[in-house]
Amino acid sequence: MSQPTREAVLQALRTVVDPDVPAEIGADVVSSGRVQDIAIEAGPMGANVGVTLSLLCPGDPAEASLRAQAEAALRALPGVAGQAVEFVVDMPTSHLQTASRLPGVGHVIGVGAGKGGVGKSTVAVNLAVAMANAGLRVGLVDADIQGPSVPIMMGLADVRPFADEERKIAPLLNHGVRFVSMGNLIGRDDAVVWRGPMVGRAVTQLFDDVRWGELDVLVVDLPPGTGDVVLTLAQTFPLAGALVVSTPQDVAFADVTRAVKMFEMLKVDVVGLVENMAYFQAPDTGKRYEIFGPGRMVEHCRARGLALLGSLPLDIQVSPASDAGHPVTASAKGSEIAGMFQALAAVVCKQLAVRGLQRSRAVDHSAFFGAAPVAAGA
Ligand code: ADP
Repeated sequence: MSQPTREAVLQALRTVVDPDVPAEIGADVVSSGRVQDIAIEAGPMGANVGVTLSLLCPGDPAEASLRAQAEAALRALPGVAGQAVEFVVDMPTSHLQTASRLPGVGHVIGVGAGKGGVGKSTVAVNLAVAMANAGLRVGLVDADIQGPSVPIMMGLADVRPFADEERKIAPLLNHGVRFVSMGNLIGRDDAVVWRGPMVGRAVTQLFDDVRWGELDVLVVDLPPGTGDVVLTLAQTFPLAGALVVSTPQDVAFADVTRAVKMFEMLKVDVVGLVENMAYFQAPDTGKRYEIFGPGRMVEHCRARGLALLGSLPLDIQVSPASDAGHPVTASAKGSEIAGMFQALAAVVCKQLAVRGLQRSRAVDHSAFFGAAPVAAGA
């Protein structure tokens, strides 16, 4: 039996709809540039066809649909005895970054909160570790200069980073994440008693004076509230997006609204809200308690036009793990709570990647469609 040609395989793949291209534009995986490789091997019963497609991020939810569609399309080709669909991750970068002071960094994402104590640092740290677990190159800046908790949570509270001969600091590395924090530059129990402009200068140094190297994502644990540091950061380093962490109470949403307004004024794209301590599930009985009452985050987010990216429970493992310097995403990878952080990381990465893609599309149409589309009749 004659084996299919490369052109026939490409033709078959043109029936595979790319779920990440807005429906109103509509595109198949060939024209959106996802096909990375095609291998055709002759066999006694027919050809074995292998196709490699790109995903926008690790854990990309588009994978299942792409696999099912591509396998069906290949199976339907005459002369095909077997088919295999593989994936590689090719995360589009934020075009905001490339022209900025952090050219090797794909995306800078801020993690903010309307107020302290809602679990912002916990989310930032576990998000960074989860992204690293997924295979991304990840950095973490603790920009919560006056309340740095990253050194303890990352398990290197008493380690001071080195500066090289060019006075650039090498970030610390643990759990697969490169990080810096003012907490590592001053003593563990020293307080930072500075006026606003000094804090602003110090925080920009955590970006400028650190040898970050190449990173897919740089997570920034922002200070709570709407103060100077966030303002300085957003104006100095274009953030690809911001997450806002909140507990479920109605009063907490008032703080969220203020934080979201601030990001909007600073032209920082709010990727969405992460609800933390949404409920507690007793490990012995499995009974669920809504400690802060039945949260109305879904309604609040809908009314405000915000995406609710995830709802994390108050989990008995989280605090002790963070205090011991082994966040659950590093020390309890198989646990339900670590799985939730891992899922949240996939959602956030996808949002960043799609935004990167859309920006590149706004800059250069061909980057979105592989090759510039040919006008009908041309
Ligand atoms: P923030 O950065 O908003 O001030 P932290 O991340 O420091 O808040 O969290 C405050 C406290 O709450 C810490 O002791 C942390 O371990 C705990 N915590 C945060 N999120 C959770 C959670 N989902 N389950 C249990 N404890 C949590």
